[in-house]
Amino acid sequence: SPTPVTVLGLGAMGSAIARTFLDRGHPVTVWNRTAGKAAPLAEAGASVAAGAAEAAAASPLVVVCLLDYDAVDAVLADVGGAVEGKALVNLTSGSPAQARATERWAAEHGAAYIDGGIMADPPDLGTSHAHFSFSGSRAAFEAHEPTLMELGNGTYYGEDAGLASVEFMAQVGTAYELLIGFLHTLRLVKAEGADPAEFADRVADSVAASYPPLISGIGKAVRDGAFPPDMGPLSVQAALMDDLIEHRRSNGVDTTRMVEVKRLMDRRIADGHGEEGFSGLFPLLGEKG
Ligand code: NDP
Repeated sequence: SPTPVTVLGLGAMGSAIARTFLDRGHPVTVWNRTAGKAAPLAEAGASVAAGAAEAAAASPLVVVCLLDYDAVDAVLADVGGAVEGKALVNLTSGSPAQARATERWAAEHGAAYIDGGIMADPPDLGTSHAHFSFSGSRAAFEAHEPTLMELGNGTYYGEDAGLASVEFMAQVGTAYELLIGFLHTLRLVKAEGADPAEFADRVADSVAASYPPLISGIGKAVRDGAFPPDMGPLSVQAALMDDLIEHRRSNGVDTTRMVEVKRLMDRRIADGHGEEGFSGLFPLLGEKG
């Protein structure tokens, strides 16, 4: 029979988690600081606990999904020994160090700890579009894997509780690094009088077609330390950069990142690596000057 689950934190994500478990037939106990947010879940069959400790005591699997680690620390201080003998799964976003500190708290309170990162929007929970990274207690993960996998696709990265956050931070960081460049480019598109939405649709198509092999190839190049001419040789790419930068400048669009790319290309070419591709900039990153 489905494992009873407690969910602490009923924001957009915690509510979607609780609802997914209810839909799959689990007995679900919920608690939230602002009690009113539990009402729709109670209507859907969840038991509402009066406090965080009471909620945690109700199930062998206790899932925490709060805004940040300040909230996690505050709620776990109230939970205290109620987690003894249970699996504590913390899906709150944070750093590897914060995950490891919470693992130590769990160990001191007799709970097995699993950290998780959510790479999904709340409506995607329970579908294959939701991706989760997990790490921490292998025994607890294996015991609760079927339940956790009901939330979406999950990958377990190992016993170090920080590893799920390492993956989460890198995935989310990739999105922000890529998308800030896209947003700046939309300024250019708009300044030139083109339709940003139509342009974005074309980018969506070209990204879907060409990025998977490019991204995988760059990863392999960085791992191997050999940089084939992805996107063409740097010597050819660099010749275009001044025009790209000037076009942006003339439209009042920020050129900070483009100027940085050009500077790195010039350095790599000057070092005798003009035949390498874009991935050849990797060895220069983090160097000063
Ligand atoms: P919400 O803002 O919707 O919910 C925040 C939750 O944290 C609420 O339950 C809130 O309680 C609680 N909370 C905040 N501070 C405290 C505190 N000091 N003490 C007790 N409870 C507190 O956020 P989400 O549900 O969207 O996000 C939750 C986590 O999921 C975050 O770490 C987020 O990064 C992660 N996540 C969210 C995604 C999303 O698309 N929403 C995507 C991927 C990850 P109250 O109702 O009382 O304010």
